[in-house]
Amino acid sequence: MTVELSSLVQGVVASYGESAASVMIQSIVARLYEQQLGNDEGAVADYIPELGKVDPDQFGIAVALETGELITAGDAANEFTIQSVSKALTLAILLDLVGRAETYRAVGVQPSGDPFNSITLDPRTNRPFNPMVNAGAIAIAGRLRENLGPSAFEQVLVRMSEAAGRELRVDQNVFESERDTGHRNRAIGHLLRAAEVFTVPVDEVLDLYFRQCSVLVTATDLAVMGATLANIGANPLTRREVFGMETVRETLSVMFTCGMYDGAGDWACQVGLPAKSGVGGGIMGVVNRQLGIGVLSPRLDPAGNSVRGKLCCIGLAEELGLHAFDSTNSGSNFLRGMGDFN
Ligand code: GLN
Repeated sequence: MTVELSSLVQGVVASYGESAASVMIQSIVARLYEQQLGNDEGAVADYIPELGKVDPDQFGIAVALETGELITAGDAANEFTIQSVSKALTLAILLDLVGRAETYRAVGVQPSGDPFNSITLDPRTNRPFNPMVNAGAIAIAGRLRENLGPSAFEQVLVRMSEAAGRELRVDQNVFESERDTGHRNRAIGHLLRAAEVFTVPVDEVLDLYFRQCSVLVTATDLAVMGATLANIGANPLTRREVFGMETVRETLSVMFTCGMYDGAGDWACQVGLPAKSGVGGGIMGVVNRQLGIGVLSPRLDPAGNSVRGKLCCIGLAEELGLHAFDSTNSGSNFLRGMGDFN
């Protein structure tokens, strides 16, 4: 299929004009979009009826640069539910609120190798393996509900909106569908309550968790959220400080090791970037100090990661040398500043 490049790239909304980097990224994004447009591998999540209804052909790519420049292709303005991408954001919100030590009383940072919805705790600690699987995210939601009280979700939504640089809202149908059918998640909630990971009522915790998963975002929002993490916590469009510096480092580390469920190791080798996926078909990727990537494509691989989203991230990483261990990436600026490393 041939598609006009000009119709694919919806342009650059630049705070600082078009940089050379953004022009280069624009052409790569357009090419990746064209290459993957006809790829219909994978299957849409249908664990709730509402998700099974989404148009599987939607496909949007967005890149947000630290300068505030935006590059988009295809359906980058289509709204979909954020689902598990929210787990990275609620981790950051709790880290900012109570710090590392308190956060890690509720959840570990070990990759689990299990599917995202597995009903398991780390046998050594009786805590969820990490905050990126459902059990860990529900533990985080429990601690947020404990610390923030009944307005916990409103406060979470404000922070998510600040990271996106626009006011976000919940898809009420998806929320109700998640709530009415979320028996596995409820089972996880009770397991956590029994292990005293949190002490507030399970239903209140799950209400927060189901709502956070049902927030509507676009691929562009995910790119801007990723760029906020890349930009040491400051939103590159609004210039507002959203997350603290230590929180960002911690969150990116957990995304790198655990963000792609049981596909995380494979992702680390092939893409080499911290990222988080959701069953709505979204992926948010982060290139530290440079840019955020957002992709929407609802068909998922068996691990629950967007098929075309992953291929786009592999393509971007290859073409732009984004992999953390790419030979063009060189260690510490601090050491280089001492003059002994060129
Ligand atoms: N709402 C989904 C669930 O809890 C989120 C899972 C996901 O995106 N992997 O099952």
